Parts: sequence; structure tokens; C-alpha cells
Amino acid sequence: MASWLVPRKSWEKKKSMSKEIQLPKYSVGVGDRFAHQAKAQLRACILSAEQGVEVIPVWNKSNREHTIIGSEPSATRAAADEAVRTLGWKKPYYVDADHINLKTVDRFAGPCDFFTIDVADLIGKAADDASVRSFVDKHSELLGELRIPGVERSFTTDRNFVVDVANKYLAAIQEAGRIYRHIEQMKGRGNFIAEVSMDETDSPQTPVELLITLAAIADEGIPIQTIAPKFTGRFNKGVDYSGDLKKFAQEFSNDVAVIAYAIEQYGLPKNLKLSVHSGSDKFSIYKPIREAMKKFDAGVHLKTAGTTWLEEIIGLAEAGGDGLQLAKEIYADAYAHQDELTGPYAAVIDIDPAKLPSPAEVNKWSSEQFVSALRHDPKSPKYNSSMRQLLHVGFKVAAKMGDRYLKLLKQMEDTVGKNVTTNLFDRHIKPLFLGA
Ligand SMILES: [Zn+2]
Repeated sequence: MASWLVPRKSWEKKKSMSKEIQLPKYSVGVGDRFAHQAKAQLRACILSAEQGVEVIPVWNKSNREHTIIGSEPSATRAAADEAVRTLGWKKPYYVDADHINLKTVDRFAGPCDFFTIDVADLIGKAADDASVRSFVDKHSELLGELRIPGVERSFTTDRNFVVDVANKYLAAIQEAGRIYRHIEQMKGRGNFIAEVSMDETDSPQTPVELLITLAAIADEGIPIQTIAPKFTGRFNKGVDYSGDLKKFAQEFSNDVAVIAYAIEQYGLPKNLKLSVHSGSDKFSIYKPIREAMKKFDAGVHLKTAGTTWLEEIIGLAEAGGDGLQLAKEIYADAYAHQDELTGPYAAVIDIDPAKLPSPAEVNKWSSEQFVSALRHDPKSPKYNSSMRQLLHVGFKVAAKMGDRYLKLLKQMEDTVGKNVTTNLFDRHIKPLFLGA
């Protein structure tokens, strides 16, 4: 096996000499659509640190979110910095330009030190024949029987298979290389964390495809620290995982094994780990993820962004009075604009329109009724996943309200913040990182 070891890239050598930014083992990508909950989110990481487990916060917000809300990446940075200062957080933290491409990345350059390079759109676009051929020629180690430590069965590939996979992914990885180098020019080498994301695409990547992709990423010279493949099953927005859990567990464990193997074979950064773009609240996969983390002593980056906005509505509703009134208004408006709001997310939501209560009905609800319909407690008979998904994608409605929404958030900061912290710590950090 050693005969086909690929020489270490020069960045490997450089890394030990300079102070390059390195993402620690456990990290959580927290989204904060309106940039008002950074402190509440950071408190969840503080609670974790108090229990002896370091979970590093990364504030992520995509170009799409910024566009819908009309915000700038600098606001995310300012909110993160302020939370860190106020609460005295001494560990690292980062701000992630989530799902950027060559067209959208520039305005993130200043405020961000984590870049999620999204090349999913190019998956399936054939690369030119010459690059495919030279990739396959270079990587004869990918042909034949592949045995990866920690993976029970071996994989068998042949030239045609690797050519097919290269045709599917190589153009995307080449684009990732262009984007990476563009960011490097703006930020300087080692001054940012690079992630490559392929999650927003149609079909999941198999562990062998992941391995081939990682070989291509190493060829491009991208020192990625996190990679987000698309996993098997449905990752609908704001609700639990739906799919074959056993299959997911097997696939995830194999992916972790593949990453450990690729780090050795291709000289990728030692801290490279999986990034799980959960679309929020994938409670049932936390156990298998944790098991794989334990088995391989691996880290993970969990993005569980959008629920913070839902916790804001829950907090407002719980506070009652004007807060409850506003939550009801947001629902009524989202209900009236269902098609427009759900359209861009069609692939990642499953709303049953028959399960959506009419605004007239919701208007009669108490705080308790509203909160229990929305709060993500899958065991509660009052929990309504259709309503939750509609509101999850309905943040545009609150964005339109502008100051009126933000003023109430500030006024009801205690109730809102308590919900944000509890949600992040109890439902996400605890089961995944503390195993409780
Ligand atoms: Zn994503």
C-alpha cells in the first residue's frame, strides 16, 4: 500500500511552522437570521464547557439568508464579537460564509474566517476529458479492491467506475479550487477555515465517492477542514430526520473511516472532519453520529442553524401579550404566502397543507397552545410539524416587519434567549457532544 502513498502537499509542512487557523474537534454551526441571539447561543457553548466539553461556536449565515433579510455579513461578525466580549468567551469562535460561490463570496471576505464553498450545482457537469484522464491515471490506488480501516466490507472499483465518479465530481472540485484560491488571495493562506459542501444536491454520495472526491480535493490543493456530503435520507428543514437510520449509521461511520484514511493517503489536514448540514433538529441521527465519533475518536461540525429563529417565535408566543399577537400575525402572513415561501425550499420540506391550522383558529390560541404546536417535541401530541416547517421557511415575513419584530425581540429578550439557549444545549449539544 505504501508504494502509492502520495507525497505530502507543501501546506502540510508549512502548517506546523505557522499559526494557521484550525477548527477544533467539536464545533457547532449556529445560524442567527436576525443577529439578535448570539449571546443566547454562546451561552449553550458555555454550559457545555462547564460540563467539560469544548464545543466551538461558528456563526453561519448564507448569502441567500442575507439577501432575503437584507443584512450584511458584517452584522453577523459584529453580533458574534459582541457576544464573545460580553460573556467573556476565551476559546475560539468563527464566522462562516455559508454556501458561497465565486459570485457571492466577496462581501464575506472581511467579516468571515470560515468559508463553506458550495459546488453542489456543478455536480454532474462533466469535466473535460483530459482532466478526467489525468486524474484517473494519477490515482491508480483507487482501482481494484479498496480496504479502508474501520470499514467492514471492502469496495471494488475499476477504471470505468472511477471515470464515472470523476465525471460526476471533478468539475465541481475544480470550481471549489478556483473559489478557494480566490478566498486565499483575499484572506491570505491559513487565515481561514475552508469547507467544501455538496449537500444541496439530488443524490447522496457513497463512501467511495467521498474518497474519490477527497483525492480530487487534495489534488486541487484545498486544505479543507470540513466536508459536507449529502447523506442518505431526508433532511427536511426544522424537523427530524426521515429515512433509514440503520443505513445512515453505516454510511456515516464509513464516511468517518474514509476521512481518516484520506487524511493519511492524501496529506489532507489532520483535523478534517464531517460537517453535518442538518437543516436543523435531526435528533434521531445524533446517536449514530456520536457512536461513529467514539469509534474513530473523530470530531464533527454540526450546523443546526434555523431553529434559532423558531425559538424566537416560541419565546415571543410564550411571553404572551404583544409577543403572542406578533407570533400569530407572522403565522397568518406565512399561511397566506405559503407557495411563495416554500417554493425555494421545495426539496427540503414536507408540509401537509391539511395539517396547517387556519389563522382564524390560531388567533384563538393561548400562549401554551401556540408554543406546544411549534416547539420541537416529537413526542407531544400537540406538536405540529407542518406548521413548524412553514414557519421555519417563513422568516421573510418577520424580515418584512423590520423594526417592529426586532423591538419585540429586545423587549422579550429574557424569554426568547432562554428558549434559544435551552434548545441548543438540551436538544443538540447534550445528545451529540455530551452523550446525555
Ligand atoms: Zn447546507
